[in-house]
Amino acid sequence: MKDIDILIKNLATRNIEAFFFENLEEAKEAILKIIPIDAVVGIGNSRTLKDMNISKELSERGNKVYDKTYAKDKEEVKQLKKKSLLTDWYLSSSNAISMEGHIVNIDHSGNRVAALTYGPDQVIVVIGTNKITDTLDEAKKRARNHSAPLNAKRAGYNPPCLQLKKCVDCKTRDRVCYYFSVIEGQYEPDRMKVFIVCEELGF
Ligand code: SF4
Repeated sequence: MKDIDILIKNLATRNIEAFFFENLEEAKEAILKIIPIDAVVGIGNSRTLKDMNISKELSERGNKVYDKTYAKDKEEVKQLKKKSLLTDWYLSSSNAISMEGHIVNIDHSGNRVAALTYGPDQVIVVIGTNKITDTLDEAKKRARNHSAPLNAKRAGYNPPCLQLKKCVDCKTRDRVCYYFSVIEGQYEPDRMKVFIVCEELGF
């Protein structure tokens, strides 16, 4: 496993506080503790967050939660994505984090990278150790060659990388990475936290 202490220190130099958890349950308990019960929470769609069932647990205890995966139709999806941009807290995963502390994400419609970048007052990014790469270059490659095809499969799109298992920089309508973001750090020191979980999570 990568040296998590080094990653945590490198994220700190970028104004991002990071915490290490042995498993997803521990990370979930920490999220439920840190987010006030009257806070409005936006959810960026993620296998990791689904595995955690965090959206339902927050709703059931009284938080207002905007999670597009519970929308009834396309119009509600659109509204929930927009509302998530102005929440008190935003929860998401990420496609890759470099040991230097770059947070790399691809996005289809852009709502997730937008919310991670600006809008919500507080952000928590939950990642499994499988998403840590040595360098920024490797993080970018992971996002395009590994995350993109699996995202496409989940969402029912068929870009070339789904068959080829690697990015060919397509311009197809089924492209799932119209937006590609590298977070270098945070201007607001207390805004973003990264929860690193010692498990293989998501893609
Ligand atoms: S540009 Fe196309 S082929 Fe490359 S990762 Fe994105 S969707 Fe896949």
